[in-house]
Amino acid sequence: MGTSLGDASGGLHYPRSVSLARLPTPLEPLGPLGASLGVELWCKRDDLTGAALTGNKVRKLEFLLGDALGQGADSVLTCGGEQSNHCRATAIAASLCGLRSSLLLRVEDPSAPPALHDNSLLARWVGADIEWVSRAQYADRNRLFAERAEALRAAGRRPYIIPEGGSNAVGAWGYMRAVEELATQVPFGPLTLVYAAGSGGTGAGLLLGVQRLGLPWRVVGINVCDDRDYFVRVIGDICDDFAARFGGATIERSAIEIIDGYVGRGYALSTEAELTGLRDIARATGLLFDPVYTGKAFLALQAELKKGTDLGKRILFLHTGGIFGLTAKAAEMAPLAG
Ligand SMILES: *Cc1c(COP(=O)(O)O)cnc(C)c1O
Repeated sequence: MGTSLGDASGGLHYPRSVSLARLPTPLEPLGPLGASLGVELWCKRDDLTGAALTGNKVRKLEFLLGDALGQGADSVLTCGGEQSNHCRATAIAASLCGLRSSLLLRVEDPSAPPALHDNSLLARWVGADIEWVSRAQYADRNRLFAERAEALRAAGRRPYIIPEGGSNAVGAWGYMRAVEELATQVPFGPLTLVYAAGSGGTGAGLLLGVQRLGLPWRVVGINVCDDRDYFVRVIGDICDDFAARFGGATIERSAIEIIDGYVGRGYALSTEAELTGLRDIARATGLLFDPVYTGKAFLALQAELKKGTDLGKRILFLHTGGIFGLTAKAAEMAPLAG
């Protein structure tokens, strides 16, 4: 692989990747909003990794597609929810790299799938093959992956499987590289990174990056589905796999900080109070947070600071994108627009 971790200068040696993201993404101060919350607040704009190919998945896909091409794959196979940002990004990135893509998208009733719109429409627009799958099938997705990969091989293709969210050891390199990028943007010293956790790969990459570079930073996730224990396990497992595959120490479970309590009505479901909160943030700052991930995480950060949770004096919120998850909620948003 030509991959080893670190050298005397603390730099990382990355495996093969493809260039997909517009980097570095800007780091912007949220001065007045931070001051109102009693902290120095920054926003890392990973919603600006690209236009349609946007958000945090792009950083992971740089390494995942690099690995796929290195293995001689001609297509990628991945999965996600009906409005998966990851699947949209994978489909676009695959087309850019000359690969075909197949998506397994989770819906309530595969025999009556929703019309294509927002993320699912863009994925299909760039040529992804979409298969609608039920919750039960999705729960057993590793078997589904194996079967679909076998069918693709039988048809003469060479598929590369990307797990949900691109969250595995290879994808984790994307956020390790983001930490290295960030370290050149912020002054040395204590900092707390706050991010939305959905499938764990972003959190794992951030934790590994901070550890490998020896930075005095805390990494705090807000889970937008499942619960705290689930994410400590999933993120810990990705870090273990990373250490086994690429070397270096793994991450202690006790270093994996997750703040639970902000899932609300459930994954990808919003309350009127959440959407109103996001509208007010948009009006105060011009920042568009999506209702599924960044919105829940940012509202959680605000709520935790208001109730006095100690997250340090300098906080960096990672804007992981999700613009098409926002536009997907147009019908719920319009009555609140005033
Ligand atoms: C996928 C996603 C996340 C969560 O990242 P994970 O690495 O899956 O935990 C956060 N924000 C947005 C907009 C996403 O699409």
